[in-house]
Amino acid sequence: MNDTKIDGMLASYDKNNLTVCTVCSHSSLQIFDGARKEGFKTLGISVGSKKKFYDAFPRGKPNEFFIVDDYKDILKHTDELREENVIVIPHGSFVEYLGAKNFLKLDLPTFGNREVLLWESNRNKERKWLESAGLTMPREIKDPKKIDRPVIVKYHGAKGGKGFFVAKTYDEFVRRVNKNESFIIQEFVLGTRYYLHYFYSPIQDNAYKLDKGSLQLLSMDRRDETTIDEVQRLGSIAELEELGIHPTFVVTGNIPIVMRESLLPKVFKMGEAVVEKSLELFGGIVGSFCLETVVTEDLEFKVFEVSARIVAGTNPYISGSPYSELIQAGLSTGRRIAQEIKFANKKKLLSKILS
Ligand code: AMP
Repeated sequence: MNDTKIDGMLASYDKNNLTVCTVCSHSSLQIFDGARKEGFKTLGISVGSKKKFYDAFPRGKPNEFFIVDDYKDILKHTDELREENVIVIPHGSFVEYLGAKNFLKLDLPTFGNREVLLWESNRNKERKWLESAGLTMPREIKDPKKIDRPVIVKYHGAKGGKGFFVAKTYDEFVRRVNKNESFIIQEFVLGTRYYLHYFYSPIQDNAYKLDKGSLQLLSMDRRDETTIDEVQRLGSIAELEELGIHPTFVVTGNIPIVMRESLLPKVFKMGEAVVEKSLELFGGIVGSFCLETVVTEDLEFKVFEVSARIVAGTNPYISGSPYSELIQAGLSTGRRIAQEIKFANKKKLLSKILS
């Protein structure tokens, strides 16, 4: 991270009056609630008008709304936002709505290392990062003619798994694929899914120790995906496919889950390796990140994705998870982020956790 640039952005800030700011969507209720619990003011960026449903959740509602006509307009308002001493907390929808390029050049102090986006959003670089860290990813099948097992076809930039499909043969692939879109073909890993929510602090040593800083496991979830997760209510997938009904993978929610304790050492080893490799490749991932995994019947983890910021799967845990309870009662990821900002501010280390 470029300390000089971030120090420049923070130079005009009243550090006793920082405001936690994010876009009203995704995990913002949790982020605002956590920030408030740590004594921060909060600002919610919203398109068009205030979001009415926030009135129903007073503890998750930001102190103030900042209304823009379009998310891309955030770039035009950075001077005003800086006057509010904002620290931006990015989440998946924030990056998506603003666009990755705009997010990278957003002239506001932002939690985490934005460089990670270049590694995370490029499938080849993501694979290089995770595999060189020693993690196992599902095999990629470059030539569709070589499909010899169930595969999942993923379109680039697909939102929430939309359009993804499963094929078991080359013929099925040809029948279903939309050749106008770019895609990858990945082995469909059989097993149970766990989405692991980590928090890496480069500036605190009070958790699972790494070469620099320490790692926490705050929670884990399983995504609820329509229609794949409930399609069997109507019949077997094979039966339905004969009728032309194909399962889809669109995320609609998140389900809390815990893992057998004997797997936790592997969970920490994977998190550690991902962080250590990120330090080597691009100056390090910071704060919350998630590994999306499938555990096979041999109790091996296959990792199909990394998300380098707070994920919506942390939302079931606004008042703590079975894991975060063992760190601090009622600790959410949103609150943990606010704590990191508070700690860094006190120790004059903000440039180590912001970009
Ligand atoms: P993704 O956009 O990569 O997170 O994938 C969307 C969903 O597809 C995931 O949440 C999983 O349910 C499923 N999925 C993705 N990759 C695989 C895989 N290689 N094997 C089995 N299921 C997968």
